[in-house]
Amino acid sequence: MTALPELDVPGVLRLHAAAEPAVPLVFDSPHSGSIYPEGFRPAVAIAALRPAEDAFVDDLFAAAPGKGAALLEALFPRLYVDPNRNETDMDPAHVDGPWDGPPLQPGPKARLGQGLVWMRRPPGLPVYDGKIAAADLRARIDDYHRPYHAALGRMLDWAAGRFGGYYHINCHSMPAVATAMSAEPEGAVRPDFVLGTRDGTTTGPALIDCVRNYLSARGYDVRVDHWYKGVEIVRLAGDPARGRHSLQIEINRRLYMDERKIEKSAGYADMKTVITGLIDELRRFAAAHLPGPK
Ligand SMILES: [Zn+2]
Repeated sequence: MTALPELDVPGVLRLHAAAEPAVPLVFDSPHSGSIYPEGFRPAVAIAALRPAEDAFVDDLFAAAPGKGAALLEALFPRLYVDPNRNETDMDPAHVDGPWDGPPLQPGPKARLGQGLVWMRRPPGLPVYDGKIAAADLRARIDDYHRPYHAALGRMLDWAAGRFGGYYHINCHSMPAVATAMSAEPEGAVRPDFVLGTRDGTTTGPALIDCVRNYLSARGYDVRVDHWYKGVEIVRLAGDPARGRHSLQIEINRRLYMDERKIEKSAGYADMKTVITGLIDELRRFAAAHLPGPK
């Protein structure tokens, strides 16, 4: 039996897993990183950038490896370069100097200031004085974005090879209220949880039902594909016809943290208990429904 590959990259990513994960269950937390790379020169203090982080999400799911699943964690901040964006999702008007990569094609996220490199920070203020040097963009892709995708891809391929498929949970948090940087109207109040499936294309219905039923039974307001439909990671990871099921989960930060201070709130311990129970539920589900191609 092949053991998991060595995947850790200092300052970039960390894989938490037993050498032989016992179930085809993989979690990843792409936005909880808070190690701001040396040489990063924003126009404002780091504290002003931290609301872009999905703070504590890695810790909320920290029980996963102890329960036979795997958890991949990005260590760098998503605002520096966002693993949940395609590497072309960048406005060429924000890049200084000749670009040697594939043509940049800004999509809706880049137009909101939150493409591959975030040019705006919540609630919509600039991150930099000017543009990003093309060489800087190249380095962020080569040294952070691609290694993250390579590690997640190897982890998922390993699970597919071992178990015939996988259940992948892409873990995020969302601000309690939409800002000017959000897709929905500014001031819109978010539900407790939003599950993203890109309109049912990244996973079969059984995984959605498992997560929705567990959370709904605990009194939470759970929506599916409600503004947060999932972006690049579930798009790449999900291929349900081949037994590769991928679901994004967004947790409302109001339930467990002070969004202004970036501190855990009184609700944190309860939320961690709920998420740990969700991991148990998913482990039972994955063991009972091996995800091979149908
Ligand atoms: Zn996120």
